[in-house]
Amino acid sequence: MKIEVDYDACEANGVCEAVAPEVFHVDDEDNLNIIADPTPQTADKVRQAVQSCPKAALSLRED
Ligand code: SF4
Repeated sequence: MKIEVDYDACEANGVCEAVAPEVFHVDDEDNLNIIADPTPQTADKVRQAVQSCPKAALSLRED
């Protein structure tokens, strides 16, 4: 599973980080960083975070 981010759409509101902080991090300069690849342990949370993004800036590519 791979996360794709539309950085033009992302407004760095941190909703995804609140759902899956192991994977998403908004830094002090309001940039969203993917800090880890999804694992079997975090995959469900990552899917939930993708669906929670109010800007629809996240998508998943399933391998
Ligand atoms: S929830 Fe969406 S808009 Fe908010 S930081 Fe994450 S990717 Fe960006």
